[in-house]
Amino acid sequence: MSKSLQAIRGMNDILPDQSPLWRYVEGTVAGLLDGYGYSQIRTPIVEFTELFKRSIGEVTDIVEKEMYTFEDRNGDSLTLRPEGTAACVRAVLEHGITGNGQVQKLWYIGQMFRHERPQKGRYRQFHQIGVEVFNLDGPDVDAELIMLSWRLWGQLGIRDAVTLELNSLGTSEARARYRDALVEFLSARLEHLDEDSQRRLKSNPLRVLDSKDAGTQAVLVDAPKLEDYLDEESRIHFEGLKARLNAAGIPFVINTKLVRGLDYYSKTVFEWVTDKLGAQGTVCAGGRYDGLVEQMGGKPTPGVGFAMGIERLILLLQTLDKVPAAISRQIDVYLCAFGEQAELAGLRLAERLRDGLPALRLAVNAGGGSFKSQFKKADKSGALFALILGDDELAGETVGIKPLRGQGEQQNIAWDALAEHLQAAIAQA
Ligand code: ATP
Ligand code: MG
Repeated sequence: MSKSLQAIRGMNDILPDQSPLWRYVEGTVAGLLDGYGYSQIRTPIVEFTELFKRSIGEVTDIVEKEMYTFEDRNGDSLTLRPEGTAACVRAVLEHGITGNGQVQKLWYIGQMFRHERPQKGRYRQFHQIGVEVFNLDGPDVDAELIMLSWRLWGQLGIRDAVTLELNSLGTSEARARYRDALVEFLSARLEHLDEDSQRRLKSNPLRVLDSKDAGTQAVLVDAPKLEDYLDEESRIHFEGLKARLNAAGIPFVINTKLVRGLDYYSKTVFEWVTDKLGAQGTVCAGGRYDGLVEQMGGKPTPGVGFAMGIERLILLLQTLDKVPAAISRQIDVYLCAFGEQAELAGLRLAERLRDGLPALRLAVNAGGGSFKSQFKKADKSGALFALILGDDELAGETVGIKPLRGQGEQQNIAWDALAEHLQAAIAQA
């Protein structure tokens, strides 16, 4: 195929055999969030570039080198969203739905775009499900976000494979004091830092803590610790969160080097990480951003949220063999009809079944064909049962029903009794 007709590198098609798994994951999360009283918000995929610069921060990896930014026909600079929080904040401000301290518990789902180096678990178009809560400033809601994600891992069967890492970044004042101390310490040891960290020391020094370079990590062993600079308020908040997680029986580890890539976090930050996916081990990440709304022109409004990467969750389910068998079946019943009269009767019968069993997944053979060819298609469809309608069945107003998986004889069932019979048979299969 010519190059121009291929998908863009790092942007994947989700083919029909994969979409049941996607719908399973998305549906599980949506059901869970409904159960906690969160409401979905849907914002555009494109926003003014300025939104992301203001919220994420000019000197972050995302804004510096990962955004898909372009000029539209009006000459406006627009960007494909690299994450979901910025647009959420813009939308609640624009529509005034967090004014007067009004609490909002929101979630979103959709594509995000970052120009990164594509590899397993890291793509240029990827999908996130995210949650944002506005106007609750206590550790109880931080705990709720973690508890609901813990419940999700339970529902998906991956609890054993993920670990919660937790840190507190303190208030912006505390962080500023720490930043000064860290810069002083690292500046005196500049020659031992990797090139990236030397650059970050000037632009975004806390990100040096994130470095994967062994030399830099060795220097960091004796570096000032953020926890020693925490302000009293953040310390109490953090203790409150830990107490709640302990009470809920949710295991966690404190990772004092966890700083997160985005500028807007304060107090709580957390990541759910796995060692089952290689280098791309973070499946869900978030934290508190009490200063962000004000920074974007709103009244002071506490906020906290997280986002999970759906591709990584799906990779994890596949790696751990936790894809439920039932979701790969998309059809319950395949109806075969032989001859023009039987085809007509088959269509009517199919619609009658749909009336009686709205949840039934029923495929009607299209394009005619011999008994053998229709039967082959029925088998290939993955259906549990084939319905068979020929001249004899038509005359007797019955239909043949043949199990396609496992044992069992073909039976003849009267049209009137078919819906009830099928319902029971599918439930048993
Ligand atoms: P990473 O350290 O892996 O680059 P990040 O800190 O940039 O992650 P966030 O911006 O916090 O990630 O996004 C939240 C989640 O979205 C991540 O934990 C991950 O699961 C997922 N994610 C982020 N970037 C990508 C990507 N390029 N491809 C697939 N999933 C991604
Ligand atoms: Mg990243």
